[in-house]
Amino acid sequence: MKEPMLKFVSRARQTPEKREAAARREDFDEIYAQFAATRAAEQAARCSQCGVPFCQNHCPLGNDIPDWLKLVAEGRLQDAYAVSSATNNMPEVCGRICPQDRLCEGACVIEQSGHGTVTIGSVEQYITETAWQEGWIKPVKPIRERPETIGIIGAGPAGLAAAEELRRAGLQVTVYDRYDRVGGLLIYGIPNFKLEKQIVERRTRYLEESGVVFRLNFEIGKDETFAALREKHDAVLIATGVYKSRELVCPGIGNNGVIAALDYLTASNCTGLDDKVPAFDDGSLNAAGRKVVVIGGGDTAMDCVRTAVRQGAASVTCLYRRDRKNMPGSAREVANAEEEGVVFEWLAAPKAILGDSNNAAGVRAARIELGEPDESGRRAPIEIPDAQTDYQADMVIKALGFEPEDLPLMFDQPELKTTSWGTLRVRPSSLETNLPGVYAAGDIVRGASLVVWAIKDGRDAAAAITAEMDARATASFAAE
Ligand code: FAD
Ligand code: SF4
Ligand code: SF4
Repeated sequence: MKEPMLKFVSRARQTPEKREAAARREDFDEIYAQFAATRAAEQAARCSQCGVPFCQNHCPLGNDIPDWLKLVAEGRLQDAYAVSSATNNMPEVCGRICPQDRLCEGACVIEQSGHGTVTIGSVEQYITETAWQEGWIKPVKPIRERPETIGIIGAGPAGLAAAEELRRAGLQVTVYDRYDRVGGLLIYGIPNFKLEKQIVERRTRYLEESGVVFRLNFEIGKDETFAALREKHDAVLIATGVYKSRELVCPGIGNNGVIAALDYLTASNCTGLDDKVPAFDDGSLNAAGRKVVVIGGGDTAMDCVRTAVRQGAASVTCLYRRDRKNMPGSAREVANAEEEGVVFEWLAAPKAILGDSNNAAGVRAARIELGEPDESGRRAPIEIPDAQTDYQADMVIKALGFEPEDLPLMFDQPELKTTSWGTLRVRPSSLETNLPGVYAAGDIVRGASLVVWAIKDGRDAAAAITAEMDARATASFAAE
């Protein structure tokens, strides 16, 4: 058979079609189409099948990328799905929202040689969407059911990945979440135009059919104590994410019209799901017709500016204290936002919210120059004396990142150990906390991170919990 691969010189990199910006501004639908079969095979065939695949090393899940690219190029899609799903519980989600330019695709040697990276994420999405359409994705049926029960707190990607792996091992799994839907930030944080909600709901149905029990509207620390949960289960996994907004301290920050990013995004997502949201209906969390300034330069800020555009804001400006090169958000998302009409004001740090307590009227920002790199590796912002600009705004969205809530306090477990950042302290090899039989995964361990890392942690924690259950079963068998 003729070698189908190594076509990167003769074949240009292509991404799936992106809808025109003017049409995108009108709705919350995803902006990228999916690859057609021939296009996916053509693009997969650009891979040079590296002996040491840097793409795989830079994927947090260590996905076997060259193998599934080759299988797609050969038209062996079911095999490609088997390889891809062996290391990833949500390939169709990661294919859509991983910042590939900073992970797998950023490390592709073809990119380094100037030919444009292989479009790994889109091919990954295509493989799994095909698997869903063809009915290849079947609920988990463990070889044998086991009696041990595991309680998972949090139905975000970390909790869900762990739940699936634990069911695969035959363990009985209950996932508790304080929200009324499964998915965590996949549902309530990330907007529909990046990840349509039915993609997450399809995974939820699959997990239910696999035997995972969900208890929603159920907050640990309120509806049940953490101690009672521990009593009830053989092991507990904490996958609660990070939800405390980082605050901006400046005059006028309490003015009406200054809102937190997650409140804003959650209201928008809930409205899209046909929930009744009074704060959206009364206009406080709706950008329609308003002059919006978003403060921040990460992915949350990008989601806010692009949501405001879709809600029909009169103008949308993003203020960020560093420059484009030194911002934490994905370059792809910044480009999408610019196409959709967002204005970026780089090197601008907020000094005060203008207006009065009844209404914000704008943001006063200091001009900034960049100094030497700081501990984050990015160049430190330094204020230029007496240089400032006022930006008009009657809605100001604070998108400065998230910190962990005080879990030892919320769970009434003062002995639960945390790091100096407030994240849970775990043994790296097993993700076990200092409380025996209590594990932790995802953002609550790493701080605000990425879906793909949450999935990786969920899988690692599930493997450690399964090993502990095996060890306990062996010990009790030996004692009989
Ligand atoms: P979460 O997804 O936060 O889930 C935690 C769950 O725990 C929640 O459902 C919560 O209700 C529940 N919970 C918390 N406390 C309790 C309790 N006491 N009792 C019961 N339930 C509880 N990552 C990407 O890779 N790509 C992106 O494009 C991207 N965009 C993002 C956009 C926004 C606006 C935000 C905020 C984040 C984004 N992220 C993105 C980051 C990503 O969403 C997170 O890293 C990921 O969701 C973390 O997963 P998790 O399971 O640890 O936590
Ligand atoms: Fe790339 Fe993310 Fe897929 Fe890994 S999971 S191959 S980083 S898109
Ligand atoms: Fe293929 Fe690029 Fe990965 Fe090499 S680094 S195996 S060319 S995708």
